[in-house]
Amino acid sequence: MALIVMKFGGTSVGDVERIKNVAKRVKGEVDAGNKVAVVVSAMSGVTNQLVDYVTSITPLYDTREYDVVVSSGEQVTSGLLALALQDLGVSARSWLGWQLPVKTDKAHGKARILDIDCSDALKCMDAGEVVVMPGFQGVTADHRVTTLGRGGSDTSAVALAAALKADRCDIYTDVDGVYTTDPRIVSKAKKLHRITFEEMLEMASLGAKVLQTRSVEVAMKHNVRLQVRSSFSDEPGTMVVNEDEIVEQELISGIAYSRDEAKITLVGVADQPGVAARIFGPLADASINVDMIVQNISEDGKSTDMTFTVSKTDMTRAVDVVKKHAAEFGYQELKSDPNVVKVSVVGVGMRSHAGIAQRMFQALADKGINIQVISTSEIKVSVLIAEEYTELALRALHTAYGLDAEG
Ligand code: ADP
Ligand code: ASP
Ligand code: MG
Repeated sequence: MALIVMKFGGTSVGDVERIKNVAKRVKGEVDAGNKVAVVVSAMSGVTNQLVDYVTSITPLYDTREYDVVVSSGEQVTSGLLALALQDLGVSARSWLGWQLPVKTDKAHGKARILDIDCSDALKCMDAGEVVVMPGFQGVTADHRVTTLGRGGSDTSAVALAAALKADRCDIYTDVDGVYTTDPRIVSKAKKLHRITFEEMLEMASLGAKVLQTRSVEVAMKHNVRLQVRSSFSDEPGTMVVNEDEIVEQELISGIAYSRDEAKITLVGVADQPGVAARIFGPLADASINVDMIVQNISEDGKSTDMTFTVSKTDMTRAVDVVKKHAAEFGYQELKSDPNVVKVSVVGVGMRSHAGIAQRMFQALADKGINIQVISTSEIKVSVLIAEEYTELALRALHTAYGLDAEG
């Protein structure tokens, strides 16, 4: 007998028929003698709709009330799944975030789980009942509802698995595993049977939304046995494992992309010590995260151009901050562009091999794609390009690194 956590994403619980299908899968694990806790997302599209309701009332909303609204989609699916399980003769009940409770900090809209009290859930499971928990939601010490950031149900599931000391955490989604790149864009993407925590973390943080970044961090920290698999087939999925469990390491494990980037350029800023501190200080004060940065070499020693990227949702606010400090920054012109995408090549093999970045630049050059900004770390190279080239770039890079599936 094993204790397992099963998580079902938005598409997997997209309508009542699909929820019934999920109930059958859960019953299968119960019938096999396992103790089961299930974590569910909201039906696909519901969270977006709830966010739209909030922003249509006010774009500058109280994040505590935002959380009350957007967490509600998961409440619906957890109740429906408990009902569907009962209908199949499986004893089950829902446990909302505040009921267990799932304790989080107060960072509304992007809260972090501090602790999950599993005592009641364990009693339930010992008595043969399936525990159904809505993902994405928690509660603060002063009893206010929180949410964990978009895609946060993955993190709920992994944190629950860690708290329950589960034998497995299976993430059921609409693809049958983690691929070398998004299989919805590159049809030749290959399924990875295993991927290291470190590479998965890098892929997730660079935009591969198949797992929320935080969920991989929690799994890594607590050594949760994590698998990504399909709700719609019985194919084995992808195991996320420690580096020493991988026998033959590929040079490049995958290619990720993020459309959530916007580029801002300050033309003609003074080329003096302290200029970067002057510009990025006020942005940090406004809680705007800056991702990539490039400063051109100044030709005359007097002025230079500074380009940086922020999240698309922060672009308007970032431009506003820059304009407010125009006199201090002393630039000649301000440009902003939301039509960019960041494409990244990821692989631990990069540590020991030269020429990885060059292959990326060449493949993009061969397609006539201009690179606007570059950034690198030990196991990744990222470039910023025009958004319209996303598909072309992903396919070209996938081929250039020899990742294409045969046939
Ligand atoms: P869920 O609603 O189940 O949480 P998500 O939409 O959050 O599902 O994540 C699954 C999606 O992630 C897939 O449909 C796929 O388009 C996308 N994706 C992006 N990169 C990858 C990748 N490398 N491997 C698999 N899926 C990926
Ligand atoms: N429903 C939430 C979202 O759409 C959480 C999740 O599905 O993981 O972001
Ligand atoms: Mg998701």
